[in-house]
Amino acid sequence: MLMTKERRATIQTLRGWAISVLQEAGAIRECEQHGWMKDRADPHARDRAFDIAREDPPDGVSPDAVTVAITEVLDSIGDTCPECAPEA
Ligand SMILES: [Zn+2]
Repeated sequence: MLMTKERRATIQTLRGWAISVLQEAGAIRECEQHGWMKDRADPHARDRAFDIAREDPPDGVSPDAVTVAITEVLDSIGDTCPECAPEA
């Protein structure tokens, strides 16, 4: 039980960390009006984010794990804010 909780907390932290790295690299940006993350679809910024992540991963997290975390965040973020998107 305790293990499960700790594991989940680590994953949440890693995801938050991955988001902050992606923002730092300019690969994603927060919608100023709604706070949704938007993928800027900039391959150079993505490369920069992976470089930052692999060079300076959080304590106890392998470079491979941070690469997966960054990829998962990118996969989960669209290139437009859902609330800014035009009504269908
Ligand atoms: Zn928005």
